[in-house]
Amino acid sequence: MALDASMPHLPAQWLRSVLPWGNSNHEPVSPVDPVVQSHRKLHPRADPAVIRRAYEVAERAHKGQMRKSGEEYITHPLAVAQLLADLGMDTITLAAALLHDTVEDTNYTLEALNADFGTEVSYLVDGVTKFDKAFYGAAAEAETYRKMMLSAGRDIRVLIIKLADRVHNMRTLGARGSASKTRIARATSEVLIPLADRLGIQRIKRELEDIVFFHLDPSGWAQVDQYFRAQPDRTPYLNSVAGTILAELRTVKVHADIAERQRHHWSIHSDKVKRGQIYDPPRLAIIVSGPDTDCYAALGAVHGLWRPLPGRFKDFIASPKFNLYQSLHTTVLGPGDQPVELLIRTRDMHETAEYGIVAQFRISDGTANPERSNPEQLQWLHRLLDWQRDAVDAADFLNALHCDLSEDQIQVFTTGGAQVALPAEATPVDLAYTLGDGDRMIGAYINGRLSPLSAPLSDGDRVEIIHATIGDEPVRPSADWLEFIRSPHARIQVTQWLAEHGYGEDIAQTAAPVSLGNKLRLGRSAIGLALRQHNRALASDHPLRELARSLGYPDLDALLIAVAERKQGAADLVQKLIRAVDRPDAATLAG
Ligand code: MN
Repeated sequence: MALDASMPHLPAQWLRSVLPWGNSNHEPVSPVDPVVQSHRKLHPRADPAVIRRAYEVAERAHKGQMRKSGEEYITHPLAVAQLLADLGMDTITLAAALLHDTVEDTNYTLEALNADFGTEVSYLVDGVTKFDKAFYGAAAEAETYRKMMLSAGRDIRVLIIKLADRVHNMRTLGARGSASKTRIARATSEVLIPLADRLGIQRIKRELEDIVFFHLDPSGWAQVDQYFRAQPDRTPYLNSVAGTILAELRTVKVHADIAERQRHHWSIHSDKVKRGQIYDPPRLAIIVSGPDTDCYAALGAVHGLWRPLPGRFKDFIASPKFNLYQSLHTTVLGPGDQPVELLIRTRDMHETAEYGIVAQFRISDGTANPERSNPEQLQWLHRLLDWQRDAVDAADFLNALHCDLSEDQIQVFTTGGAQVALPAEATPVDLAYTLGDGDRMIGAYINGRLSPLSAPLSDGDRVEIIHATIGDEPVRPSADWLEFIRSPHARIQVTQWLAEHGYGEDIAQTAAPVSLGNKLRLGRSAIGLALRQHNRALASDHPLRELARSLGYPDLDALLIAVAERKQGAADLVQKLIRAVDRPDAATLAG
């Protein structure tokens, strides 16, 4: 019987994967079987042949090599592939994970890999392959990072494999000497943990944070561990809270699952350092089955049950974090006046919260299109690469990467609705340069309010950049800006502009933040712009001064400030102005 390609073949594969004799090809049991099984759980239609082949090649290539722990080397790529299979990555990624150390550590060449497994697998393996220390010397590490990041810019799976590789190396760090332990743990916390955070892969981030904590601060770790062990069992309390919430949700017809979200060691510790004491109220995630609106319905329900603590509510659904994390956060005074933290989210949001960029691979059929990656999620990476791709010195690249990663990220919204990720405390000037037009900016509205150019932006701010238009009195970047600019590329551009235009240290202070002068300029420029839309210009301030008085302003400056603060519309003002200038007799406006 010819097999019809369109025939659903899911049940047979499913049977094979659940029956104990499921290995229908009578292949001997292989160490890679668990990887294949985990892969099939999320991707039942995936063809695992390439995974098995990759394992065989890797196993042969690493034959005779041992890890520091004394285990066969192949156990490492196998563990990395298992980790990625559990995360839900695609077939190609698992094959590449099994082969990820072959080119670096064995006689197997990139050419052979390319011929045997194709360009996709070889691209991923090459992306995580270190530069040879013997050949590149001291620059090898920096060059390796640059290559990895550039490769990840085209295919983010390179970074995902690197992270899984590091997780396994960290899990087995105990086998190493103490100097190399410290070195590896440091590098992990400086580069790989922030990368996991940027990509939103909380599962990896949490595990790496705890292992690093354990190795770099054993006594701090032991204290937190002691705290956990001394803590009374919260399960009965949380069960009763969850039961009450579920009953209440039924009355508003919201279906949800509730699960405890325990903090990890590092989170308890870093919070304790910030607050001076441990703050660890029980925490539940309410995962609703319906749409976003169900989250708000659930929020209303729990706030109806128990009083919310002021200042503890956050809406990350309306304003997602830079890594696309979404949830409602609230803390209520639960039964017995005990604070309980609640995270409310849909199933999709929950997937994104746990898996970040990996979430999109979990829903595919085992094949993946890395270019489908959410561009917003990778904005920071592309920004970094745009500006640092051509750094002459790989060390400069590594520095820029360190700088970028050491800063928290925020997400702001432009008036056009675009989301832009910026370093925390970035200013409107940073935003203007990120959007590609910083040189001529003269002001900004943050959440509708006129704000100084140096105002630090916060997560979720809505920002409108005001640009000067051609014909205004000269507007230009100011050396002042360098004092508050946060993003390296904005800094580069301002410095470049100043250098190109021959400004030295003594540059005039044109754009001092907050200043009244700034508001006056902004008001004048808004009026100028509105006038130009009517093909008009003012020869003198006289008509404007007259108009200011007739509108009840004490002087012209007061009017300009009102325009800048949007208490007085520029377009409306200009209509009045034109009428007054054209028909001077009618210019005796009321008052
Ligand atoms: Mn490795």
